[in-house]
Amino acid sequence: MSNIVKENIRVIAFDADDTLWDNQSLYDEAEKNYGQLLAPYTFGQDISSTLFKVESSNMPLMGYGTKAFVISLMQNALEMSHDTIPASVLHKILNIGTSLLNNPATPFPGVRETLTTLYDSGRYKLACFTKGELLDQENKCRRSGLYHLFHHIEITSDKSEQDYINLCTKLGINPSELLMVGNSFKSDIHPIVTLGGYGIYIPYKRMWQYEHLEEYEHDHVIQVQQFSDILQYL
Ligand SMILES: [Mg+2]
Repeated sequence: MSNIVKENIRVIAFDADDTLWDNQSLYDEAEKNYGQLLAPYTFGQDISSTLFKVESSNMPLMGYGTKAFVISLMQNALEMSHDTIPASVLHKILNIGTSLLNNPATPFPGVRETLTTLYDSGRYKLACFTKGELLDQENKCRRSGLYHLFHHIEITSDKSEQDYINLCTKLGINPSELLMVGNSFKSDIHPIVTLGGYGIYIPYKRMWQYEHLEEYEHDHVIQVQQFSDILQYL
């Protein structure tokens, strides 16, 4: 177990999807329904791996989020079927994709209580730092009922080291004064500890392939099982 020097920390930033509320299982379910609709038109090819290739190739220009996912679903359906997929099936695929914009963003058990405790303590500023599309992520924050518990909400196109530096600049702190809490070692933990900050890693049962990164031990990283566990260290 490592050392989080809480006296150093001024801001705690929280990832949103799959840290505060479920997201990936809705995507997995959408992809499963998509696979069933598309299968008759794919000449036996593997839908999941070709979809991932399309998503990855669209990433540099479209970024993360639901709209990019919907476009990738449609593009992959057209390509795999060699443009033979009926419009009525494409319409159903469109509906599967856009339904993700209605994610209820119900907080995981203990999230609301834990954030409220931290907020009321006045000890730290709380931020939500999440990748994705502006309106979709803002809507989820509002639907979650957690919006008022954040001093700052930052929706970003990526979570590279530079994005963390930009966040810290906006907040008026050094990276060594930031603690990031999240479910992705690649996006939420690795960049900030590389910059001298801190991370609390809360793995979720499902992980998007694109977010995979080999985990490693680090003095500034703590791994916990559930969200409320973070209070033990703060
Ligand atoms: Mg996440």
